[in-house]
Amino acid sequence: MNNILDGNWIEFDRNHIWHPYTSMKAPLHVYPVVSAEGVRLILEDGRELVDGMSSWWAAIHGYNHHELNRAVEQQIKNMSHVMFGGITHRPAVELASVLVDLTPDSLEKVFFSDSGSVSVEVAIKMVIQYWYARGCREKHKLLTIRSGYHGDTFGAMAVCDPVTGMHEMFAGNLKEHYFADAPACGFNEGWDEKDIESLKHILEKHSKEIAAVILEPIVQGAGGMRFYSPEYLRRTRELCNEYNVLLIADEIATGFGRTGKLFACEHAGISPDIMCVGKALTGGYMSLAATLATEHVSSTISSYGSGNFMHGPTFMGNPLACATAAASIRLLLSFSWQKKIVEIEGQMKKELQICSDNPLVHDVRVLGAIGVVEMIRPVNMAVIQKRFVEKGVWIRPFGKLVYIMPPYIIESKDLSLLTGAICETVKDETVLMEG
Ligand SMILES: *Cc1c(COP(=O)(O)O)cnc(C)c1O
Repeated sequence: MNNILDGNWIEFDRNHIWHPYTSMKAPLHVYPVVSAEGVRLILEDGRELVDGMSSWWAAIHGYNHHELNRAVEQQIKNMSHVMFGGITHRPAVELASVLVDLTPDSLEKVFFSDSGSVSVEVAIKMVIQYWYARGCREKHKLLTIRSGYHGDTFGAMAVCDPVTGMHEMFAGNLKEHYFADAPACGFNEGWDEKDIESLKHILEKHSKEIAAVILEPIVQGAGGMRFYSPEYLRRTRELCNEYNVLLIADEIATGFGRTGKLFACEHAGISPDIMCVGKALTGGYMSLAATLATEHVSSTISSYGSGNFMHGPTFMGNPLACATAAASIRLLLSFSWQKKIVEIEGQMKKELQICSDNPLVHDVRVLGAIGVVEMIRPVNMAVIQKRFVEKGVWIRPFGKLVYIMPPYIIESKDLSLLTGAICETVKDETVLMEG
């Protein structure tokens, strides 16, 4: 057998490997990365790209971090994996204890899983089992807000925005849930009680069937990169209490400091009944997620029938991932991350504002370490991606959205490379689809 890597392996990739949301017939160009260091991705031809994506919100400390490497190396000497059924280990216990400490007070019970989507499935199962245990079998639907994104598995897809959620083709196979209008009030805008009417109306009419509201607190990520008023979240919490419905906060994208608070729920000072975390949990080293629940939710589930919560992935509580996650959180708390996010936010606001004069730009918005330039039309991915790489940056837009959420360790001059590349690139109409 000859080794494919001695030949044209990029060609092999093109012919045989699916990448996220791509066609095998006309695959977009993929860039071979051989290593990564700090905020830089190093391509096979030696070029270096400043990373604006943190590998989809995950690599908050940058790449090849010596402390995270050390955590992996130490744990790998003990064990990489061991089943979690009937067994426990220090990495899982240490991580769970840190998560219980850092998340809003009432969240006490931790369920580990392998990915964000699965942690959402777990949250959905929890709320259904909760109401089942309470004898309310008809409360098995969810209520969510439009423009949301909660993952790619079936349960999660069913609560993604039916239009921007990228899942229209599966509509017939998805459970039908309730969708309220997305919040219209921006993060810093004056509150208008009208904004919550759609959600309130659905609760008034259908709370007997609704198990929980699920939403991304403050920042709607892959469904549209929108920031909304903390008052919306506060009112949602109140309405959930009033109408006897649980609240699931999907903090998979927002968790671990990205919005300027450790968790986005803190902007509103609320505590959900269930919270999902993932993405930055291991600092981008490997896939791990967790679903946290209150004592009340867990004890209700546990008091019915066998009391078992019906889920248990093969790689649950993977020790390597747990040890890395614990190290990543320790690292985050060891420096003044809040100050760093404020600096990144200030610099992005100043430097991305330059784009707002551009007639091709619809909106510029920044919150915490998230910067978004929304275009008037969808971008042409093939064209814009190439331009960014030529400018030495890694920025991967979707739809009309050109956005960055860099690693927190980014230095000012590298951040300027990212914002400069965006402002320059979006001046040219050829990076957009034809209008
Ligand atoms: C990415 C994301 C998910 C899905 O996580 P995966 O690890 O990709 O399965 C769910 N919810 C939100 C808010 C996300 O950003």
